[in-house]
Parts: sequence; C-alpha cells; structure tokens
Amino acid sequence: AKQGGKRRYVFYANEMSKDALQFLRMDAALRRALERREFHLVYQPQVNIASGRIIGFEALLRWQPPGEAVIAPDQFIGLAEETGLIVQIGEWVLETACRQLVAWQRAGLCPQDIKMSVNLSATQFRQDDMVATVQRVLATTQCPPHCLVLEITESVIMDSPESTVQILNALSAFGVQLAIDDFGTGYSSLSYLKRFPIHTLKIDRSFIRDISIDGNDAEIVKAVIALAHAMNRNIVAEGVEDSVQLDFLRDHGCDQAQGYFFGKGIAPEEAAALLSRQQLP
Ligand code: C2E
Ligand code: CA
Ligand code: CA
Ligand code: CA
Repeated sequence: AKQGGKRRYVFYANEMSKDALQFLRMDAALRRALERREFHLVYQPQVNIASGRIIGFEALLRWQPPGEAVIAPDQFIGLAEETGLIVQIGEWVLETACRQLVAWQRAGLCPQDIKMSVNLSATQFRQDDMVATVQRVLATTQCPPHCLVLEITESVIMDSPESTVQILNALSAFGVQLAIDDFGTGYSSLSYLKRFPIHTLKIDRSFIRDISIDGNDAEIVKAVIALAHAMNRNIVAEGVEDSVQLDFLRDHGCDQAQGYFFGKGIAPEEAAALLSRQQLP
C-alpha cells in the first residue's frame, strides 16, 4: 500500500510538472517572441453604414514564430494575461498601432477623423501607470489623442466601477475615446453606462450572426441600437458577414459595422491601398 501511495504521488507530480512546464515554455516563447519581434498587427476596417466609407481600423495582434503558421490572439492572450507579459505586449501594440496611423496621416492617406481602435486587456487596464503609458505613447508617436479608441470589455468596467470611472475620465480628459467591446455578452449596469465617458458600444458578433433568423437576436440588436442612441453613444455592429445582416442594421439605424463582409484584418500595405482608393474623387 505504501508503495502504491508513493507511485500515485509520483504520477501526480508528473502531471503537475507537465502543466507547469507547458506554462513556463509558453511564457518563455512569448518573451522571446517580443524580443525577436515575432508579433505583428493586422488592421480590420470599420465602416460607416450610411456612407460606406472606412472610418477606422481595429488593430488585431498576430504572432508568427519563424517557419510556423500565424497564431491568433485567443491562443496566447490568456496566458500573457496570467503572467503579466500582456502589459509589455499591449504597450507594443498601442505604440505600433498609433505609429501606423500617424504614418498614414503623414502620407496623406488618412483624414484626421479616421480612428485607430486598440484592445486593452483587464490586466493592462488595472496597471497603476496605464493612463501615463497611454499619454506617453501618444506623445512619442505624435498620434492625435482623438484618433485613438481604446476597447475594453464590460467585465473590466463592472469589476470595479468606482475606480474605473476615474480611469476612464482621465483618458477621456485628454481626448482618447472609449469603446465597450463585446457589448451584451457581459453584465453592464445601465446607470454606470450613463455615468461613464463611453463613446461607443460594440455589439457582440454573437447577436449579429443570426440576426435575420432569430427573432430574439433581432430584438436585442434593435434595443441596443436604441439604447446607444438614447444615451448619445455611437454603435458598431461586430462580425457582419453578409448583406442581409448589413441591410437589417442599416434599416435600424446602426451607425457603423465591422466584419468579414467588409474585410478581415489586413496588412498595413493593404489597408493603405484601401485608404488611398477611398481618397479618389
Ligand atoms: P475582439 O476584440 O472581439 O476582435 C474581433 C475578433 O473577431 C477578431 O479575431 C476578428 O478577426 C474577428 N472577426 C472580425 N470580423 C469577423 C466576422 O465577420 N466573422 C467572424 N467569425 N469573426 C470576425 P482575432 O483577431 O482572432 O482576435 C480575437 C480576440 O483577441 C479579440 O476579440 C480580442 O479580444 C483579442 N485581441 C486581439 N488583438 C489584441 C490585442 O492587441 N490586445 C489584446 N489585449 N487583445 C487582443
Ligand atoms: Ca475588440
Ligand atoms: Ca469584440
Ligand atoms: Ca471578443
């Protein structure tokens, strides 16, 4: 029995170390990736539904280890959040996206009202120096603050609404815009929404997907559009994949859309080409 117990222990220890090893290996790989510049951003267009024009881009993170396929953020953001490495990765994302927008502006491709949206994770948002970091990146890249939109989720906001309102007010005070990402999937208190300097609600793709076949989803989307407008907020529909969805959104007064129907995340050169075609008279 004694030996059996010992064997069980060894087995357990092996299991633990396998997970821990995997975790450490992934963390090391991500740190290396940051040093060796294996990350890049793709830019997904956001469109004004009424005019059909591009009004901004969302920067989306990609990891391409040498000689391997591109890895999507869902595969590594969670771990980077746990280890805290997301703070450094996120700062790189913010700086790269702002720098890109300024490059387009300087090339005359990008009217001053085109916005760059950047995702902020919960860990990033809770850093003591987060507001200072955003301010510093805006200064070093010379990105106009009103061109930057920071996307945060409802859970980040509702996690600690009292401290969040101060952070959001500070960001908003120097002109940065704020968007709630994946709106409708979390829990938002309407009274907080009203008090917070939120410019945009991004209605989650899960409500858009079946908009034309699921009556409940259609009603939810209509209600969210009405809610956003009643509060004088901008509304973006995420994950628009076909013209039926777009027609529904247009008919119900949704302001902006983003999704594969308009295009997936693209390389900076492709985004620049899109912008320059839009510049044509
Ligand atoms: P998200 O912020 O909700 O971004 C939208 C995701 O939906 C993107 O996936 C985008 O490629 C995808 N998408 C856009 N349009 C469509 C569509 O029409 N149909 C479908 N099926 N999907 C569509 P991606 O790039 O894999 O990013 C996944 C998530 O990873 C993002 O969700 C965001 O939460 C996170 N993420 C991406 N980049 C960053 C980053 O730089 N920092 C942080 N903290 N998180 C990031
Ligand atoms: Ca987002
Ligand atoms: Ca989203
Ligand atoms: Ca999402």
